[in-house]
Amino acid sequence: MKITFATGNPHKLQEIKEIAGDTIFEFVLPPEGFDPIENGTTFEENSLIKAREAARLSGMISLADDSGLCVEALNGEPGIHSARYAETPQKRIDKLLDAIINSDNRKAKFVCAMTLVSPSGEILFQTRGECNGEIARKQFGTNGFGYDPVFIVEGTNKTMAEMSENDKNLISHRGKALQKVLNYLNNL
Ligand code: IMP
Repeated sequence: MKITFATGNPHKLQEIKEIAGDTIFEFVLPPEGFDPIENGTTFEENSLIKAREAARLSGMISLADDSGLCVEALNGEPGIHSARYAETPQKRIDKLLDAIINSDNRKAKFVCAMTLVSPSGEILFQTRGECNGEIARKQFGTNGFGYDPVFIVEGTNKTMAEMSENDKNLISHRGKALQKVLNYLNNL
């Protein structure tokens, strides 16, 4: 069964395919012109906006995610603004480290909301995955993307950027959310 995965980013689609592994569901990119206006106020709202836009364009069941990093000492910021917190990935990390430089509370979590909609845009299933951890005082590791080099995964002394892709997928917010979506789909 084909499912549109609501992203314009082929790398994200690849990651979703890798997490999903061997499955009867085939995730495909939305048709050209996919450019949703992500003006929701929560991860859930933004994932719904993306899923509905993908369903409208593809006429197929569509799945979207919306994710970000929530830092306790910053009252949950950058949160839904994670992708636009500063201009470049490095500037985003620098800004984050600077913002909590004097804070002993380094607690943070990655959040990923996923929404599955019908071809007409009705919500079929909505879920979220979270990964707890803390913000390092400096960067470690070169794998992954975004805030991975400063996010130390709870129960390990590794940042996400020091983990293999496989290990990250097993514990990541996106991996956990997608497992729940796959359980839902498998039980249909
Ligand atoms: P979006 O879900 O594509 O809107 O992206 C949210 C933003 O959150 C990304 O651009 C990253 O800055 C950050 N982010 C989300 N997931 C991860 C992750 O697994 N590692 C590092 N950064 C992440």
